[in-house]
Amino acid sequence: MNLHEFQGKALLQQYGVTVQRGIVATTVEEAVAAFEKIQSEMGSDIAVVKAQIHAGGRGKGGGVKLAKNLDELKEHAGNILGMMLKTPQTPGGLNGPGKLVRKVLIAEDSYAPDFNACKEYYVSILMDRERKQNVIIYSTQGGMDIEKVAEETPELVHKEYIDPTLGLQGFQARKVAFNLGLSGAAFKAMAKFTSQLYRAFVSSDASLFEINPCLHTADDRIVAVDCKVSLDDNALFRHKDLAEQRDTDEEDPTEVEAKNYGLNYVKLDGNVGCMVNGAGLAMATMDIIKLSGGDPANFLDVGGTADAERVEKAFRIILRDPNVKAILINIFGGIVRCDRVAQGVVDAYKNMGNIQVPIIVRLQGTNADIAKQIIDESGLEVRSAILLQEAADLVEQVLA
Ligand code: GDP
Ligand code: MN
Repeated sequence: MNLHEFQGKALLQQYGVTVQRGIVATTVEEAVAAFEKIQSEMGSDIAVVKAQIHAGGRGKGGGVKLAKNLDELKEHAGNILGMMLKTPQTPGGLNGPGKLVRKVLIAEDSYAPDFNACKEYYVSILMDRERKQNVIIYSTQGGMDIEKVAEETPELVHKEYIDPTLGLQGFQARKVAFNLGLSGAAFKAMAKFTSQLYRAFVSSDASLFEINPCLHTADDRIVAVDCKVSLDDNALFRHKDLAEQRDTDEEDPTEVEAKNYGLNYVKLDGNVGCMVNGAGLAMATMDIIKLSGGDPANFLDVGGTADAERVEKAFRIILRDPNVKAILINIFGGIVRCDRVAQGVVDAYKNMGNIQVPIIVRLQGTNADIAKQIIDESGLEVRSAILLQEAADLVEQVLA
């Protein structure tokens, strides 16, 4: 689950991390009130209006604007709220439809009084699965595309690996500050920033923190001007307060609906819909589809205890994707009985009517033979298979 910038900043603040302060607004009136508060309470004459969507690169797409006075603030808030913001990270990229902006963050100007005296660094924390360690990736080249920096000037991207059982050691936090070329007050501030950031990362069970830019101000403070926070869904039960911040407006509506039914669905770009029980079998099925010359349209795990009702729900979700040219249902009947799944498929098919795409069902396990019989006798455009190879061949046939 991803957090919005304003939510991520609130999380960081709980751990003492210095952030660019701001107030979230959903209307121009709220933005005006926020601006007045920022001027009176935070002592910042200038404010930044920042679109809150789950995508980076907002600045380039016109979603981050500086407002020097009330008129400019109204203008920018009015333009950004309700706009379809396109960034390289929104669906379809700059040529896609963009994402609707429902909220803006009205933030203090962290670069004041002298923009040019500030330096922008890059700091992120994530898990390195191969090393089984956390890693802090950082660079003096902040505020820009870090992938590009890594490609063109890899020597400017540093990594500090952290043994999770030991945690971040003091010398490591100081090394980050040192490698960024800091000294004096800025050095101390950066080491502290790094320690607090790391503590926030571990304590929130995050999978990614990305602070870009991490600002070094003219008066030697270190400030998180932007933050991207991804949390580990499997640990969300430990963080009710964070789980409540989920913004389903930012997620794929079909994936949200699937989740509500207890289905694990991820949409992909291919043409063969698949419905499988168990994540491992789902992966194997996707491989089989590839080998048969198709491309999976989705990952869908209906769970080990899938019943007919859930099968029908899953069926409906797959069929909503216009790219789907065939559906492969691959169910292993261990806990669930194959005949019940088969009946579920047949019922769903009849209920929905007018299904145009060929369906291949492979049921294996308890009562697989009865299941095959139910499918074969249903009189529907459904082909049955018992062996995985048969199913794969059928997919190849219908795609040919
Ligand atoms: P992103 O484009 O989605 O990554 O959004 P950011 O929050 O990183 O902002 C993009 C850019 O806007 C930054 O790199 C800065 O150059 C600029 N920016 C953000 N906050 C401020 C601010 O407080 N003052 C000024 N002058 N510029 C800012
Ligand atoms: Mn940024």
